Amino acid sequence: SPEAPPIHAQGLHKTYKVGFWFNRTVRALQSLDLQVDAGQIYGLLGPNGAGKSTTIKILMNLVRPSGGTARLFGQPVEDAATRRLVGFVPENPAPYEYLTGREFVTLAGQLAGLSGQELDTRVTEVMGAVEMAGAEKLQIRRYSKGMVQRVALAQALVSRPKLLILDEPTSGLDPLGRRQMRDLILAEREKGTTVLFCSHIIPDVESLCDRLAVLVGGRRVREGSVQELVSAQVPTVEVVVEG
Ligand code: ATP
Repeated sequence: SPEAPPIHAQGLHKTYKVGFWFNRTVRALQSLDLQVDAGQIYGLLGPNGAGKSTTIKILMNLVRPSGGTARLFGQPVEDAATRRLVGFVPENPAPYEYLTGREFVTLAGQLAGLSGQELDTRVTEVMGAVEMAGAEKLQIRRYSKGMVQRVALAQALVSRPKLLILDEPTSGLDPLGRRQMRDLILAEREKGTTVLFCSHIIPDVESLCDRLAVLVGGRRVREGSVQELVSAQVPTVEVVVEG
């Protein structure tokens, strides 16, 4: 439904079975609540192993939670029609490296149901938006990390998603690449797109996000607006920097 929040998760638990006999368990998430309202850039901040990727994979219906519920736009994450409203950039995207950037984004557009002139025009539009028009005919294996991230973003944008889920889109980029990625995300919010931005880089989260949740060890330890969390002088930053 249109009034339902883009993301609503309640009491999410996830345990992974590990070890040779699958006889040990790792608790990746414990009673996680998460609500992201329309039009926000929402940050998920936390050190390695905090549970950020697991949360995103549950929202993307790639991992089944051990407990709790997750909804997108009021629908269960399994709902195929709702999935089409979501654009996703995984951590370290590894797109088909022998395709050109344009071929890769065209493929994503086809999977989203576009074809013909409409597809062609839309691909040109998103490649321009992420400043990859000049390199769109090069194979992806020749791209820098920042170019791969931007093509991955173009791939996510091609279907005009209402919700963008980005896993560490600025990690491993140089300062210019990070700035460029931040500007692209801000431009998406201007268009009304809701963004879930997952990162361990505090300045990126502070400069981009309207609200954020801090995860440590699979638990949400803080939640609020960036101003609230910064002015509260909570030890959030110390906790996160150690990761
Ligand atoms: P990172 O920034 O390193 O990606 P993260 O915050 O995204 O960290 P997760 O990847 O969600 O954290 O991992 C949370 C915990 O679950 C970690 O202890 C991790 O080792 C464990 N884990 C994640 N995926 C699996 C898996 N497929 N099998 C077993 N354990 C896993």
